[in-house]
Amino acid sequence: MKKFLLMILMLVLITFLYLSYLFYSGINIDQLNFVQRWAANSVFASFDNYLNSIPKDQRAIVGYDVLMNQLNFIERNFAERIFSINPKTIGFKGPKYSKEKPGKLVKVESVKVEGRETGIQYCPEHSYNDYLLMMEKMKKDIGKQLHIDSGYRSPGKQAYLFFYYLTTSSEYSLKENAKWIAMPGYSEHGNPVNNAIDFTSENGINGFSDNQTAKDFEALPEFDWLMKNANQFNFYLSYPKDNPFGVAYEPWHWHWESK
Ligand SMILES: [Zn+2]
Repeated sequence: MKKFLLMILMLVLITFLYLSYLFYSGINIDQLNFVQRWAANSVFASFDNYLNSIPKDQRAIVGYDVLMNQLNFIERNFAERIFSINPKTIGFKGPKYSKEKPGKLVKVESVKVEGRETGIQYCPEHSYNDYLLMMEKMKKDIGKQLHIDSGYRSPGKQAYLFFYYLTTSSEYSLKENAKWIAMPGYSEHGNPVNNAIDFTSENGINGFSDNQTAKDFEALPEFDWLMKNANQFNFYLSYPKDNPFGVAYEPWHWHWESK
């Protein structure tokens, strides 16, 4: 009996050591091991629980530290290890921005586009004003407008989205993730001055929701109009095809830049 108990104890110990080894072992940027996948899911679940517990209008601007403080010891250790990876090593070559909040943020109410909601968004006042002027002209020219699908996102919201995309990718590949979503501090959506907007058409075409691809957004007359006119309103396409930043082609993503 004593021998049997000892054997069980040894087995538990060996399993524990093995799992710990997998957890702490180096992160393979092409695919996380199964313990690290479990940790990533757990981090996302804690982030998600917290975001669902706060008012909807606070979700896009949730603080990075506030969100990280929701994690238990293991989750936090893992999330911090992920966010301490230099984005260049996973293929993202864009610059790092200030994590400061823009001076004046405008709250943009959620809009319904083909059965889905854009959710409450925020934009720095300067880029929002230019967006309004641009839409006025677009409406006049082609009778259509674009809505804001994603505007300013705090580094906290960016952390949430990074884990959302990581845990919904098939291989939990950081390298694949980096093509679509920047780490906190590296997204143009978090840039307090040259802030980015992801647009959606009035009937819900944004190029990335559901089963859409960049081609769907590219085919819109609104996109053609943006290519010809957006620069006049201080908006610039950030990630054209084969851009030097290692980011996928994003025809819906435009950032503001002063002339
Ligand atoms: Zn974007």
